[in-house]
Amino acid sequence: MARKLKNYIGGEWVDSSATEYTPVVNPATCEVMAEVPESTYADVDKAVKAAQVAFEEWRQTPILSRAQYMYRLKTLVEGRFEELSRIVVQENGKTMDEARGEVRRGIESIDFAASVPVLMRNDGLEDISSGIDETTLRQPVGVFAAITPFNFPNMVPMWFMPTAIACGNTYIIKPSPQTPISMEILFEILHELDLPEGVVNLVQGGKEASMAVMEHPGIAGVSFVGSTPVAKIVYETCTRNGKRVQAQGGAKNYVVVMPDANMEASVSNILGAAYGCAGQRCLAAAVVVGVGDAYDEIQRRLVERAGSLRVGYGLEETSQMGTVVSGAAKERIETMIQAGLDEGAKLSLDGRGLKINGFENGTFVGPTILSDVTPEMSVATQEIFGPVVSLMRADDFEEAVDIVNQSKFGNAASIFTSSGKAAREFKYQVKAGNIGVNIGVAAPSASFPFGGQKDSFFGDLHGQGPDAIEFFTDRKVIIERWL
Ligand code: NAD
Repeated sequence: MARKLKNYIGGEWVDSSATEYTPVVNPATCEVMAEVPESTYADVDKAVKAAQVAFEEWRQTPILSRAQYMYRLKTLVEGRFEELSRIVVQENGKTMDEARGEVRRGIESIDFAASVPVLMRNDGLEDISSGIDETTLRQPVGVFAAITPFNFPNMVPMWFMPTAIACGNTYIIKPSPQTPISMEILFEILHELDLPEGVVNLVQGGKEASMAVMEHPGIAGVSFVGSTPVAKIVYETCTRNGKRVQAQGGAKNYVVVMPDANMEASVSNILGAAYGCAGQRCLAAAVVVGVGDAYDEIQRRLVERAGSLRVGYGLEETSQMGTVVSGAAKERIETMIQAGLDEGAKLSLDGRGLKINGFENGTFVGPTILSDVTPEMSVATQEIFGPVVSLMRADDFEEAVDIVNQSKFGNAASIFTSSGKAAREFKYQVKAGNIGVNIGVAAPSASFPFGGQKDSFFGDLHGQGPDAIEFFTDRKVIIERWL
């Protein structure tokens, strides 16, 4: 029987009060790796109480010492880098290279958090009135929590937790029940880091644990990353319960290729952006808009290159694309491909029904390209979250921008061009939070906020960068006169 995952609360591993457990399945081999508990309100409550007690001591820990914990955390994570990457592959299905990239990005967030002594510093004015000085102090707020998705099981929690605790808050992570083991290893590392008990807590589970996080009065703020329908629920529930919230939702990212683009370089870039992590990236290139003559060329080159990608088990270093996360995801993606065809799209490359030798039951979907897609088709408007590119035509730049801006999502958009003017207009006009210019995956580094607009983001302060410091602190204004 598979082992049952535990929660980590108050500095120790504890059994969940769950009565239900769900198998965690390696999507390539179908091996059951563990069973994840459906933790309850009682488990979240226990974690909140531990985090509340820890907060009083932790906020008084000198900020330089809190920063030192980040340096040690980085060293410990580096020490288990390959193991952390392997587990991402095994529970998520992506390739080893992609998993290493993910873990590396997580480490960059630890680097960012280590600079809190600079980032939390504030300002002041002498003699705002005669003999009166006014200053602001930045203070931690209390207990924060993250509810995170399956597609970056290591990196996404790292966007939030290191900065939150370095600012002096205490923390609870509720990972995706599809990929909970990455956080189990991270918490083994955090245990070794020897933070005061209760500073960091892990509650495994699904919807019930999420709801408890959103409703518990002891939690001051929630960072959510996941699909748009759930992001809306999280935003509404948290605001109703008086919490700070940042909810990063789903996406449908458009890539515009101008006729003056360097086609060879653009296609290489788009290939990675579309099929990296089997398209299960909130920054995946989902729709490619070929402007004028660019359409035919991009179609020809993409079909040729995508068709020769080596799909296989992520732990085999030769694999260039792994599985999608589950059988349910495979079924949803293949159904959406069929819906696109029924609505009139043409099939230029079909990844359905792919079988890989030795992994016959693995949930593989091969690279897929749908051509002649038009803006109203479901494959242009809905997030597929799989290795599927929808190709669309536009006569000119203005039409391409119109197409991009019709989308209800606004996570990312990219343009490939050699024209500075077109690039400038694209940056100016496009309604998306992360813009790429000759870059397929417009992923902000840890010191910049992770943008997102329209149905891709609900909240005010984004994840990462200076926004994160605002989110995890409160400013207090001090006005002083000494007689
Ligand atoms: P999901 O919305 O199904 O789940 C995300 C988290 O919410 C999980 O922890 C899950 O347990 C919890 N959850 C699910 N249903 C819930 C409900 N009804 N009530 C409360 N909690 C619930 O997302 P996913 O399938 O794990 O991840 C893929 C999605 O995440 C995609 O839509 C992708 O675009 C998005 N994503 C967005 C970003 C971003 O930065 N905008 C980054 C990564 C992924």
